[in-house]
Amino acid sequence: MKLPVVVVHGGATVFEEKYHAAILEAVKEAAEQGMCALEKGGAALDAVEAAIWVLEETNLFTAGLGASKNRDGEIELDAMIMDGNRLESGAVMAVQDIVHPISLARYVLERTSNAQIVGSGANKLYEQMLAEGYREETSTKRTERPLIAQECDTVGAIAVDETGRIVSGSSTCGWPGKLPGRVGDSPIIGAGVYASDVAGATCTGKGEQILRITMGRMAVFHVEQGLSVQHAAETVMSELRQKTSGEAGLILVDNLGNVAIKFDTPHMPVAVLSGDIEDVYYSMTPEWPIA
Ligand code: ASP
Repeated sequence: MKLPVVVVHGGATVFEEKYHAAILEAVKEAAEQGMCALEKGGAALDAVEAAIWVLEETNLFTAGLGASKNRDGEIELDAMIMDGNRLESGAVMAVQDIVHPISLARYVLERTSNAQIVGSGANKLYEQMLAEGYREETSTKRTERPLIAQECDTVGAIAVDETGRIVSGSSTCGWPGKLPGRVGDSPIIGAGVYASDVAGATCTGKGEQILRITMGRMAVFHVEQGLSVQHAAETVMSELRQKTSGEAGLILVDNLGNVAIKFDTPHMPVAVLSGDIEDVYYSMTPEWPIA
């Protein structure tokens, strides 16, 4: 596919049918906003933040505004963003009750010399981020939401700009009713998210299983070793199944804009936009590559 490319996913899970249209509209809008950021001269970091921001802003996914509570009735969120060419990342874990952890993860990447900030430290950093005017406080308010995904779902995005720079990101609240402090794969470098100058991956599914095979890093590694993105994605999916019996999904994109989408759950809403497709490709059960 022709660069630039933006790929967005809304989690490997099962979504109640009556929400499918709204979910597809959201992933489509996220891919469009990501591409719009690139067209305005932004970097791949801007595109991934913008795309994930859109998904966090709806209450359709168990991320951002739609996050579900942990066992103690509290909201704890995880997010990560990684710039493949600099091999630098920012992540926040168990940050309480904010709407856009992806922006905070980017703040960690760009404004601190650290890579991962957890819990109350992440909430303090959020206040610092707002005070510095790096991002504004969102005005959107959290309300009780219906059960849209049967289990959990994470949102993720990958952008490759015209020069082949790759950024991957992810945002989630993990699992409804999780143990307080539980962190899955999504904000862990090499597990839920990874990017190098060759490829970027973002995964979704049961974090405890994805962590065991460092799925994101392995997917990118296989591409670095010469496999196509398609073949690399199939390889990590079958490894996950064989070694952990976990269900999951991932998107994987290389620096030429080749895209792979794999999942073994009933749904994984995905939207893809690139320099050579006029309309966004989007589907609840994506078949990729498109015939
Ligand atoms: N991977 C996420 C987690 O375990 C959940 C998901 O992708 O649905 O935290």
